[in-house]
Amino acid sequence: MTGQIKYQLDERDLPTTWYNIAADLPGLEPLLHPGTGAAITVDDLVPIMPETLARQELSREREVEIPEPVRRLYAQWRPSPLYRARRLEQVLDTPAKIYYKYEGVSPAGSHKPNTAIPQAFYNKEAGITRLVTETGAGQWGSALSFAGALFGLDVSVYMVKVSYHQKPYRRLLMETYGARCVPSPSTETEAGRAILADDPDCTGSLGIATSEAVELAAGDPYTNYAGGSVLNHVLLHQSVIGKEALKQLELAGDQADVVIGCAGGGSNLGGLTFPFLGEKLAGRTDVRVVAAEPAACPTLTQGKFAYDFGDTAGLTPLLRMHTLGHEFVPPAFHAGGLRYHGMAPLVSGAVEQGLIEPVAVAQTDCFASGLTFAKSEGLVPAPESTHAIHAAITEALRCKEEGSKETIVFGLSGHGFFDLAAYQAYLAGELRDDAYDDEAVATALSNLPTVPNG
Ligand SMILES: *Cc1c(COP(=O)(O)O)cnc(C)c1O
Repeated sequence: MTGQIKYQLDERDLPTTWYNIAADLPGLEPLLHPGTGAAITVDDLVPIMPETLARQELSREREVEIPEPVRRLYAQWRPSPLYRARRLEQVLDTPAKIYYKYEGVSPAGSHKPNTAIPQAFYNKEAGITRLVTETGAGQWGSALSFAGALFGLDVSVYMVKVSYHQKPYRRLLMETYGARCVPSPSTETEAGRAILADDPDCTGSLGIATSEAVELAAGDPYTNYAGGSVLNHVLLHQSVIGKEALKQLELAGDQADVVIGCAGGGSNLGGLTFPFLGEKLAGRTDVRVVAAEPAACPTLTQGKFAYDFGDTAGLTPLLRMHTLGHEFVPPAFHAGGLRYHGMAPLVSGAVEQGLIEPVAVAQTDCFASGLTFAKSEGLVPAPESTHAIHAAITEALRCKEEGSKETIVFGLSGHGFFDLAAYQAYLAGELRDDAYDDEAVATALSNLPTVPNG
């Protein structure tokens, strides 16, 4: 077998700017203040984030400069490699070319440090001493703990209680970086205490943990909130992934026909695919984008496109997005990073514009595809990333059927070394496909907030 496998850019090829799709995407709707219904301003956001990030959140500027200290820290593992999956292609016997952009090479093992580092940088610059956040499976918590350690910031992570107990190694990684990790719901916040008064055995959700973190940030001038996904500035920072991938494909002499990512809150999907969509919106290329979401938490395929809160207690601005309702608690399937009731407004907007095709995939199919990938490429994917792998394999098999020589690019958002218990459960035949709960979603959707003056 011949042919290049790895497309590795030089450190000097690191992007100097992030790409902001908000400059090009038609029909975007503003964040709204839940009390007044007015569009959110920078002043509304500064109680919980530095002004620079608040401006990025609302920005419509196309290219945003990456600060030099952030680029220097990115350079430890960026540009991340783009691989041609030649052995997987052989196993599938497909005429398609398959590439994957691997983000598991970061110190925390996923794409999440791409935004954790600039967020820590801007907060340090603004004189903040502590960051608080939520985490599900623990990837975001460990990425922020790493970034906090680099900048000498205290980090407190509210971790969904069921994961806190199921995934002790992620928690230990956060503690190794010097962070404090608290099972959520906790007794440390009003939001947590209210939930526990109602249900002392509550195992938590990302929405609840977010309420705890936002409440603490709003109540202390030296504490800010750092979000791991969903928000516009997070997707902005993640655009380094797609910018590099475009250059790497050029190096390979190829153009993507379809680009695929898994979608929890939308940050790795947006990060990889938005620079491709930017090219498409400028009329320079044509490309399909596929978002692979879990069938048990099918935000894009079954949710409503409506204004909703980002958290359970209703402390965040109202976001226009695909949502299953902020009160919806997804079943405890293994891809913890995909268990979120909502979706990034930028990803939701792109779906509404017909620029992204959502597909819902079942957990056991994803693990089966994850194993096929691990056995051919050697990398053990995070359970979240197996959703993108499954969608990519589905596309490659379609190409085989059609005899079509397309170029498929997918995002391998992280490694699964801390998730081997999930692989153990799959190998033992113990994983089930949790049905998506129609009734719970209907109830949660009936409690969407009403938009003042809306
Ligand atoms: C957090 C996470 C996800 C899901 O979050 P997005 O914001 O949708 O990217 C996917 N993969 C990995 C490895 C993660 O850590």
